[in-house]
Amino acid sequence: MTRHAFITGGGSGIGAAVARRLVADGYKVSVAGRDLLKLEAVATGLSGTCAVVCDVTEEESVEAAMEEAVRHHGPVSILVNNAGIAPSAPLVKTSRAEFDRTIATNLTGAFLCARAVLPGMIAAGFGRIVNVASTAALKGYPYVAAYAAAKHGVLGMTRSLALEVATKGVTVNAVCPGFTDTDIVARSVETIVAKTGRTPEEARAELARANPQGRLLTPEEVAETIAWLCRPESGGINGAAVPISGGEV
Ligand code: NDP
Repeated sequence: MTRHAFITGGGSGIGAAVARRLVADGYKVSVAGRDLLKLEAVATGLSGTCAVVCDVTEEESVEAAMEEAVRHHGPVSILVNNAGIAPSAPLVKTSRAEFDRTIATNLTGAFLCARAVLPGMIAAGFGRIVNVASTAALKGYPYVAAYAAAKHGVLGMTRSLALEVATKGVTVNAVCPGFTDTDIVARSVETIVAKTGRTPEEARAELARANPQGRLLTPEEVAETIAWLCRPESGGINGAAVPISGGEV
């Protein structure tokens, strides 16, 4: 049976790397996000991949996107909750709207997508949910309180849901990457440059120093761990938070 993997935020960075990896493993893949052109650029050339517009913060959008994906590829047996944003600012300069948007995208989005696919997974007796959390789910960093709150929340939801479905053939795990070379890090570098006057090279080096290996991770490394958690043979791993951080946590 060819399994269907639904990847939110699949149009760039880690999500696109997961799409490439799971297609190589023989899965049918749906990449979901808000920008159809970006999604189609990833889907083109990846056989068996469809692009689905989805804003994970909107309940109706999630439901419609899941229906569209199921029409293309059949029931979803793998969900990778990867869509996320990582704004940075001191807490006192974080607006209520920005805080809410960060929680809605990183945490509520994962909840909505999981809720949409779980009944089908339970009925099939098989499912894999992998939530892309962060090292910020395991420790704090300055200037990202909203993001760390959302990612800690993702991990709490992961652990609870894992217990809820433990006997159903469904596993729920989180991966916790450190700084990874994607658009999110590019935007962080821009912010550091604008706020501190450092050069982009200095800002990147500062982020890389958080990793004991002294480097940024690649999206492909994160995708590799996600693909491993999705395998049928990984069914004993449930409720885990897998760090991919060169030893930072
Ligand atoms: P990207 O910015 O490349 O990817 C984020 C993706 O999320 C984009 O494709 C974006 O697409 C999508 N997205 C954002 N908001 C929404 C929304 N409301 N609905 C649907 N999709 C949305 O960065 P990364 O690949 O780095 O990020 C992927 C995940 O990895 C995130 O959850 C991030 O927190 C996590 N992570 C990243 C780390 C890093 O250092 N890069 C470290 C640890 C975790 P679009 O805007 O087109 O909708």
